[in-house]
Amino acid sequence: MGKKISSKLFAELEHIVGVHNIIKEREKMLDYSHDEFSLKEISRMPDMVVKPSSAVETSSILKLACRENIPVTPRGGATGLCGGCVPQYGGIVLSLENMNRIKEIDKDSQMAVVEAGVTLMEFSRAVEDEGLYFPPHPGDESAFIGGLIATNAGGSRAVKYGVIRHYICGLEVVLPTGKIIRLGGKLIKSSTGYSLLNLMIGSEGTLGVITEAVIRLLPFPGAIRTLIIPYHGLEEAIETVPLLLKKNILPMAVEFIPREVIQVTEDYLQKKWPCAEGETHLAVILDARGTDELDFLSEEVAEICFEKGALDVFVADSPQKQRDVLEIRSKIYEAIKTYTVEILDIVVPRGEIAVHVKKVQEVSEKYGIWLPTFGHAADGNVHTHIMKGRYVDGKIIPVPENTWRPKIDQVREELYRDCRLRGGMISGEHGIGLVKQPFIDLVLDEETLSLMRGIKDVFDPDRILNPGKIFPMNKEI
Ligand SMILES: Cc1cc2nc3c(=O)[nH]c(=O)nc-3n(C[C@H](O)[C@H](O)[C@H](O)COP(=O)(O)OP(=O)(O)OC[C@H]3O[C@@H](n4cnc5c(N)ncnc54)[C@H](O)[C@@H]3O)c2cc1C
Repeated sequence: MGKKISSKLFAELEHIVGVHNIIKEREKMLDYSHDEFSLKEISRMPDMVVKPSSAVETSSILKLACRENIPVTPRGGATGLCGGCVPQYGGIVLSLENMNRIKEIDKDSQMAVVEAGVTLMEFSRAVEDEGLYFPPHPGDESAFIGGLIATNAGGSRAVKYGVIRHYICGLEVVLPTGKIIRLGGKLIKSSTGYSLLNLMIGSEGTLGVITEAVIRLLPFPGAIRTLIIPYHGLEEAIETVPLLLKKNILPMAVEFIPREVIQVTEDYLQKKWPCAEGETHLAVILDARGTDELDFLSEEVAEICFEKGALDVFVADSPQKQRDVLEIRSKIYEAIKTYTVEILDIVVPRGEIAVHVKKVQEVSEKYGIWLPTFGHAADGNVHTHIMKGRYVDGKIIPVPENTWRPKIDQVREELYRDCRLRGGMISGEHGIGLVKQPFIDLVLDEETLSLMRGIKDVFDPDRILNPGKIFPMNKEI
């Protein structure tokens, strides 16, 4: 357990960030005790929330925390789905919310310099206003740039444009000891020593606090179009994807979505999805330099889909239809959230998706738990939702806790074992955090884990930074 924060330390922290940037009242700290993971057991009250406004303030806070052996948990937008920003051992929650300046959008080198607390929404808008484009687009736009980098977030566009890692060229990081380092810069390439830059990306706040980033941008694509393609079954839908790729068609996104969750979301939003046929739908998003190229691509995609048994191909061609489709897709999470216990983030080789999803269906039947599964069909990332509700005729009916609770560990374990069997990993984009930490040794061997622990010790010898995440804490603090 972390040490209690003394009144002397309170005063020192107040001196660093100012009284308005500290929260110590219990009710006000409640929001800082959890992220988007649903179960209450994945939450913990901090002793204090501190909001620095610069790397220098962050450094002073970490130096004090080291001196006093107080745990510090960095926190972004708290949209994480695995308890990564939960202060598991109490102590200080270090919220980056005040560090929210977009310092520069350099159109000539197509690079932006931003602080860690800028939201994805603000950043995307600012970049697009300059005629540029930041392709990664994880589903919750209130995530912070620092959180996106710390989790190496993905999102549906990863198939064509890659994940956050592919856009981060430089970082300013405050190490747990309080030292401030700069890694990379406005550089497209570097072969200069070990890439500590890449080590920081995806380190989930366990190696350093990211305070600023240099981000690569692209020109804005000329035209974007969404196709909705219903199929009778999941297999035909998923088997379409390798055919598209073989023909050298690389969509911006390809998502498979069961009709059931679309219906629930239509009802929730009072909006209509373009079609009601079939059990599984593919949403294929295409981009191109102009509409002629897009027409040609859409025809090619439609032809391949029909070959594979598609029931129809709907085009969201007007901006309004496009907005409705994207809104329904992005609000599925919200529509089923009350009944979601956990969202798995398994990633398997592309060719294994259909077999893995079949396994999900078997496990669902075996345990009598509704497991709606959807995800990024072209990059193997499968989000199975473990539910505490049943789907009946477009609605979700609650299931009593004593029915679902005893089964969730077995359901998760069976699916993780299947993931391992198929050469997969237990997280494709959300990270390990607190929730998946007990399962990391299912997919990483002891040698690998011991190297990772060694790296943690080099960066954070006192183990004050986000303890208990990724792997268990084996030292009392
Ligand atoms: C509706 C919904 C849809 C989502 N869709 C996607 C998706 O498509 N793809 C995807 O990848 N994720 C998705 N997510 C998950 C989540 O949005 C991402 O994991 C996101 O990157 C988290 O960013 P955040 O700022 O909210 O971080 P937080 O939740 O605050 O923190 C996440 C982790 O990062 C660490 N951290 C935060 N800021 C810093 C910093 N400045 N320095 C060091 N460490 C830091 C924290 O300690 C924690 O370990 C979704 C979540 C929701 C709720």
